[in-house]
Amino acid sequence: MRYHLITYGCQMNQADSEKIAASLEKKGYKKARLGRADLIVVNMCSVRQSAADRVFGLNQKLSKLKSQNSNLKIILTGCVLKKDREKFRKFFDEIKKMPQRNCPSALIPISHGCNNFCTYCVVPLARGKLVCLSHQIVLKEVKKAAEAGFKEIWLLGQNVNDYQSPADASINFAKLLKMANDIPGDFSIRFMSPHPRNFTDELISVMAESEKVAKYLNLPVQSGDSRILKKMRRPYTMKQYKDLVGKIRKKIPNINLSTDVIVGFPGETRNQFKNTTKLFKEIKFDIAYVAKYSPRPGTAAFRLKDNVAPDEKKRREKILRKLTKHPS
Ligand code: SF4
Repeated sequence: MRYHLITYGCQMNQADSEKIAASLEKKGYKKARLGRADLIVVNMCSVRQSAADRVFGLNQKLSKLKSQNSNLKIILTGCVLKKDREKFRKFFDEIKKMPQRNCPSALIPISHGCNNFCTYCVVPLARGKLVCLSHQIVLKEVKKAAEAGFKEIWLLGQNVNDYQSPADASINFAKLLKMANDIPGDFSIRFMSPHPRNFTDELISVMAESEKVAKYLNLPVQSGDSRILKKMRRPYTMKQYKDLVGKIRKKIPNINLSTDVIVGFPGETRNQFKNTTKLFKEIKFDIAYVAKYSPRPGTAAFRLKDNVAPDEKKRREKILRKLTKHPS
């Protein structure tokens, strides 16, 4: 029997995938290429919308393989949110929950939607404008998760640093994070996703000074070229991004830094891509989630010509993965 394992998500998923592979090999399975496997396991983390999007992106390929091999079994596992579970049910033979010890994370939404209209992104179209949950609701959930024994608590939003409690406008994300940190218990806190814009000194200080806040940060850059960033409607320049990383590293020297990046955005020239490689060499991200650009109907970028050839996107993706300490 042959298996193929696909991992989309965070470091925890990588570690879980190693365990899954070891247990399959113990049962006599041999690792194989996607097209030759009898069992495909997709291990994802719904914490990251990009991971969920990538699983959706697999559907066509998996259906084709299934039509060619009626014995093929396809399993989805990992930290799959309930809402995603429903959506994925029709594409997978089985959706398995990770045993608690492998997924000791509580996922707590603090907001839904987003007010930024990055030109490639469907989130504002699919989920609407930013709506924040009150700090009381969020903190109650954190307390409940801590009491239930979760060792890791994620505060989730499409754009967490735009958070503002509807119950008290003075409570921004930095303050919410500090309040969550002050809840008694043995747990760590992580959050996803922040935006390089509005990443305030106050937030950096709270991260540095709060003992429960993990020294981990995913700071999506999306491109290392300021002109492409402008086309993506990302409101920062390369200099501003690098200055921000410098400030964060100065205050939190042991920070584990990851990023999201898109290669092959419409019109991205080789030289513009080189600026992304320069950024990667300079920043030395611990992890990078590299996505090849694909047009999404309804987005502003959908009207632009998707003119970077698929092979070239693949080449750029490979280069960035090689420039990352722990490729995703
Ligand atoms: S900030 Fe994030 S969620 Fe909001 S539009 Fe941009 S990429 Fe999408």
